[in-house]
Amino acid sequence: MKKIALALLLGGLSLSAWAKMPVVASFSIVADMTREIGGDRVEVVSLVGPDQDAHVFQPAPADVKKLAGAKVFVVNGLGFEGWLGRLSRSASFKGTLVEASRGIQPLKAEDAEHEHGGADHDHGHDGLDPHAWHDPVLVETYIRNIASGLSRADPEGAKTYAQRAADYTTRVRAAHQWAAKSFAAIPAAQRKVLTSHDAFHYLGKRYAISFLAPQGVSTDTEASAKQVSRLVRQIRTDKVSAVFMENMADRRLLDQLAREAGVQVGGKLYSDALSGPADPAASYLSMFRYNVETLLKALTKR
Ligand SMILES: [Zn+2]
Repeated sequence: MKKIALALLLGGLSLSAWAKMPVVASFSIVADMTREIGGDRVEVVSLVGPDQDAHVFQPAPADVKKLAGAKVFVVNGLGFEGWLGRLSRSASFKGTLVEASRGIQPLKAEDAEHEHGGADHDHGHDGLDPHAWHDPVLVETYIRNIASGLSRADPEGAKTYAQRAADYTTRVRAAHQWAAKSFAAIPAAQRKVLTSHDAFHYLGKRYAISFLAPQGVSTDTEASAKQVSRLVRQIRTDKVSAVFMENMADRRLLDQLAREAGVQVGGKLYSDALSGPADPAASYLSMFRYNVETLLKALTKR
């Protein structure tokens, strides 16, 4: 008798674990949003994990397998996932495809002919800037799209998804209001950032921050001393307040840049992936707050 009860219990447990709807997300940021909205009803796997580079992702046979078993596939869209078509075909995915950015007004990608538009930040060839998640107002659209996609695939959970989406939207909106108020306290002319990472134009548009690309510095190779003096000139001419050169690893060159240009250099902005759990950008909202705080600190340091 006891044995039967135990078997039933175990059966019940494994059934409820199995009953979570399998969802695949293309990368860590939409994976986090999907977990926020799906809660306990979904099991979300991210193809490109935290701290991984979406630009160099190549789907492996294991990814094809994951997708083949999924009910919902959440992607960013706007050309972010250049490998999307090939992968869904090889997995013969027949579930619900959710394009999280669907319906937003996209920005154009910076002209590829610019020297800085290195191949390391190329997401596709449709000429759109895919990094819309850096604008929390647009993320409200992401949330709506993900919630409605989950509901289509799992109508029984629709009420839960709507409830959780509303709650998440409230938190995202609060983060936006805080950011708007904080940036507004900095004179507009001072909101100029030079960065090698060409991913923040949506954030810049929302809060009137100019993100300038370094001119004459290749993103593929390590900067030289000569390129640094060119950067110093650009920083002075454009009156840049803060500099984030993530691909410049040479400490001496960074110090030289900071000294000669009289700006603070460094700090990390998270763009295309969340951090691991031990670092400060493990969720979309903590990433957004961390980036805003890092920018505020750099822009107000005078
Ligand atoms: Zn990117």
